[in-house]
Amino acid sequence: MSDKIKDSVKAKIKTFPKKPGIYFFKDKNQNVIYIGKARSLQNRIKSYFAPTSDTKVIRILNETRDIEYILTGSEKEAGFLENNFIQQYQPKFNLRLKDDKSFPYLKLSLQDLYPGLYLTRRVEADGSKYFGPFSPAHQARQTIHLISKFFGIRTCSEKIPGIRKRPCLEYDLKLCSAPCTGFIQESDYRDNIKNARLFLEGNVEKLLKISRESMKKAADKQEFEQAAQWRDLIHTLENIKEKPKMTSVGLDDKDIIGFARKKEKSALYIFLMRKGKVIESESFMEKENIDFSKDELLFFHLRKTYKDRKNCPDKILLPFSPLNKQILQDEISHLAKKSVKLLIPNKGKNRKLVELADRNAEIVLRETNIDLLPLEEAQRVLNLERNPRRIEGFDVSNTGGEESVGSVVVFEDGHPRKQEYRKYKIKTVKGPDDVASLQEIIQRRYTRIKHENKALPDLVLVDGGKGQLNIAKKTLNHLGLENLAVVSLAKRDEIIFTPTHEQGLILDRTSPVLKLLQHVRDEAHRFASSYHRIKRKKRSFESELDGISGLGPKRKSLILTKYKSLAEVKESPVEELGKIVGKKVAAKILEKLK
Ligand code: SF4
Repeated sequence: MSDKIKDSVKAKIKTFPKKPGIYFFKDKNQNVIYIGKARSLQNRIKSYFAPTSDTKVIRILNETRDIEYILTGSEKEAGFLENNFIQQYQPKFNLRLKDDKSFPYLKLSLQDLYPGLYLTRRVEADGSKYFGPFSPAHQARQTIHLISKFFGIRTCSEKIPGIRKRPCLEYDLKLCSAPCTGFIQESDYRDNIKNARLFLEGNVEKLLKISRESMKKAADKQEFEQAAQWRDLIHTLENIKEKPKMTSVGLDDKDIIGFARKKEKSALYIFLMRKGKVIESESFMEKENIDFSKDELLFFHLRKTYKDRKNCPDKILLPFSPLNKQILQDEISHLAKKSVKLLIPNKGKNRKLVELADRNAEIVLRETNIDLLPLEEAQRVLNLERNPRRIEGFDVSNTGGEESVGSVVVFEDGHPRKQEYRKYKIKTVKGPDDVASLQEIIQRRYTRIKHENKALPDLVLVDGGKGQLNIAKKTLNHLGLENLAVVSLAKRDEIIFTPTHEQGLILDRTSPVLKLLQHVRDEAHRFASSYHRIKRKKRSFESELDGISGLGPKRKSLILTKYKSLAEVKESPVEELGKIVGKKVAAKILEKLK
């Protein structure tokens, strides 16, 4: 990291809150290279810049060009989200966590007649109730021990009713009530399960009430051993300083929305939860008339956000009811071609998640004052008619003309709108002709936008110099879009070309306008390159499998969806590969890859 970058990153860190959250170190291509959690974001991230001999920290900082964060309600919430994001981004410096695959969960097998409690790393739709994730992992084992001790819940997978005549050692150690041999009635065991759930869900107050009543009853009946056990549980519950608030998870797909407003500005923050894990977060900012009420603003935000959204979940959790909730719900369901429910949770884990999203929306809003400045400055410096609130950036990627692809990325108010990114397979250009490829994707992009009557951007940015600018301008003119503003930004010298700056415009390297344009260009480059890499990998993967009789393109692509590399295919047992392509073909593949 150069001194200049270090200074600008350090200046940014000073604006970070001293609150719990997750931070993301990003490299020059905006790839996430390291994720961590902190009780105080500012203090923790600052500590990375203190002199150190830790080679891992030195390597992370060498590659870091930017740091971002998400605010959470507590360090525990940060731990939960951190793991989700690590699974999602697979940052190269989070190797230890990556190798862990996943933090453990506790599984209460409610679908069984006598449910048991088990440690697992996979959440499945099997009727069980899952709790976690636990970090550090030994907390999960301690929790199992407590549940076994206080509630006699089994941890074995013994078939019940079965053939066992005597309980196992767990019973002798007072860690199981032995349902296997009928030492406990089914209804009593179910009561114990209910109490174990209260414990796992962190419902300490309710459990304390039940425990006190049960202790009294047991004492009245002179069941002193029982009474002592309840007393110990009460003691433990009272001593649990931080309540055992483990998030109970399902396999839900849902979007969790946060909202914040200040004067004419409002922000929407979304956690995208898929299969019970937060896989992504997004934020949007709007500047509207101050006269709008917050339910009107939420309505506008949601309508705009879900208009073009792909993979809409079945549930959208909201902090409060937007204007015309029912109309909006019908509209979103219609666009998603399925029933989508707009829900406003009042309590429980969903309310907590919404509050977490709210807190992040507030942060987005606070930061927008900084973000809007480059846009206003860009309008002035680039001689634009409008403030470039929506920018679309284009790039092309190929290797010697092979597998040419293009990308368009969309930024609104200086923030990427990833769900609007699009990739293109170049169809009409042979060989490594970047200018002609650029012409093709601009033509395809805006022909479609015109056809679908969608909103045009305020500014088009192309990667390259004068040649790229001219072809972009010519293509847009041809489509009747003469008024659409276009600029190009050349790599290395970072010269900006615009129709009014034909000789090029050089801005100071620290200029916020240059940084904004670089961000858009680099994001387009990253997006195009990653698509190109995938296509190249697919091609080489497929060509290695050429010449095997019975293995056509369809079966090849089935293999490609299941295995990440040829090495993985090679390691696969013939039976497993045979399930995809048939045993005979599988044997031929493995023979060829030997
Ligand atoms: S006592 Fe029975 S139910 Fe309990 S752990 Fe042992 S085998 Fe399983």
